[in-house]
Amino acid sequence: MSTIPKRVYGIDLGTTYSAIAFINEHGKAEIITNSDNERVTPSVVFFESEENIVVGKIAKESAKTDPSRVADFVKRQMSDKEWAFPVDDKSYKPEEISSFILRRLASDAKKTGDHEVQDVIITCPAYFGDLERERTRQAGKLAGFNVIEILDEPVAAAINYGLNDDAKGKNVIVYDLGGGTFDVTVVSIGDDPDKNEIKIVCTEGNHQLGGKDWDDQIVKHFVAEFQSQTGSGTNLLEDQEMAYDLRFNAETDKKMLSNKAKITRKVSFEGEKAVVELLREKFDEMTAHLLDQTFALTDKVLEEAKTRGVTKIHAFLLVGGSTRMPQIKEEITKRYGGILGVTPVEFDVDEAVAKGAAKAGEIHVLQQAVEDIIETGATQEQALQELSDKTGKTGEDILIAVKTKIKKVATKSYGIRALKGGQPIIRNLIIKQTPVPTKGSQIFGTAGPNADEIDLVVFSNNESEPDALPDVSEEVGNAVFPLDGNLPAKAPIEITFELDDQGSLTLVGLDKTHGKTITANFKAEGVMSEEELNVAIEKQRDLVID
Ligand code: AMP
Repeated sequence: MSTIPKRVYGIDLGTTYSAIAFINEHGKAEIITNSDNERVTPSVVFFESEENIVVGKIAKESAKTDPSRVADFVKRQMSDKEWAFPVDDKSYKPEEISSFILRRLASDAKKTGDHEVQDVIITCPAYFGDLERERTRQAGKLAGFNVIEILDEPVAAAINYGLNDDAKGKNVIVYDLGGGTFDVTVVSIGDDPDKNEIKIVCTEGNHQLGGKDWDDQIVKHFVAEFQSQTGSGTNLLEDQEMAYDLRFNAETDKKMLSNKAKITRKVSFEGEKAVVELLREKFDEMTAHLLDQTFALTDKVLEEAKTRGVTKIHAFLLVGGSTRMPQIKEEITKRYGGILGVTPVEFDVDEAVAKGAAKAGEIHVLQQAVEDIIETGATQEQALQELSDKTGKTGEDILIAVKTKIKKVATKSYGIRALKGGQPIIRNLIIKQTPVPTKGSQIFGTAGPNADEIDLVVFSNNESEPDALPDVSEEVGNAVFPLDGNLPAKAPIEITFELDDQGSLTLVGLDKTHGKTITANFKAEGVMSEEELNVAIEKQRDLVID
């Protein structure tokens, strides 16, 4: 007997704001408002005391008075293996801080809607590699969740957009500019009436580019104006409290500039005062170089899409809070309107990702439930009926979920060190933008006789070619292949990299001499071991998260 499928929550764990959604009884994705009655929660953590941790709006405000106890933008640190936030003689890794944000989302869901959050899909930027994805998964585990999937944000946005008949047969570009990250993805939605196929064609991104960089330009302007009006040489950013204040105000002013042509802000420090004005026009000028960076990646992804047979784009979707800046829409229209024949549209800017993740969760559980029922000997039709009776959903809705297939691509290349013409290179065995799951192999010779292991360093890069330069590649981990110690020198070992559709890398070896498969012990550098994870869970046990 199968049970009623569990509800899966979709979580957009954003750099600046996070959101949580679920599928309601009408089959619609719904955002859960938090206990501040807001639909998004600032991804900011305030270590109020050793036992008490505050997340969200109050944490963001506390940063004004107590900046050294506030951690923010931690998603940008997910790729930094060394980074940790020091407070009260302890230090917290990005995945631990992220878990506090997740816990707040879950406790709010419980408070405001009596939702017990357990099974979740958490989203991450498409270009997150194995390390960042694994750390995001661990953040979920630390929060006590069962993490069903780490889903790419543009895929989630596309699912939110693409599960209706209007979207069929369309190629869509998703331009997602959030608070701290940017990604741009071409998605193709199949036109087969019997299938719902959402296929990622290719994706590009920059995880150090987002609304915060627009804020920083305003901060720079405040500082320069203060100095010029007061004649003071003081760098206001050296004062932590002042710096936080300026950043906070800069974000507020940036948002105002989305609706107004000019803002005025008083800046005072140690008795000196300045009144700073900023015109939208000037702001656009100061930040044009940032916008250009997004366009360089947009051009790249469109070129790449062409090589994959996608020459026509039917819709240009704007996702992420920062796309509310009017210059984004204006410049995209100017630049791409003519070439592509489409104008950009804002699409559920703050909520598309969480809602898409909730829809992906629904697809996952319904597909699983139908499979389980069919395994007991029922036909698909009977399975749909049984599930419809149990869940109250229509057979048609369940069928749409069952027919949905999501196809993704590798968002990074993965390879190993090799020599080419005497020069060290990285030989990519998995190449970026290849549909996943995928694998790639290379034969190695053992170095000497009777070796008892092969030890390989694994690299990743953003190159779409088989060979990449070592200085654009990053070490991601170490793989050790144990051998029996009975092979001659130069014995062939075939090494295969396998990347699954969740972006997780596995390495397998084949001892060609004995036809024996060797499973590598691969550990992504910077990821907590099971033991460390348990220690971290223990460390969090008595913490109160508000
Ligand atoms: P997200 O990560 O998608 O939630 O995006 C958050 C970013 O969007 C932050 O940098 C916000 O400052 C920015 N943002 C939100 N609303 C606006 C607005 N009206 N104008 C400009 N930026 C905004």
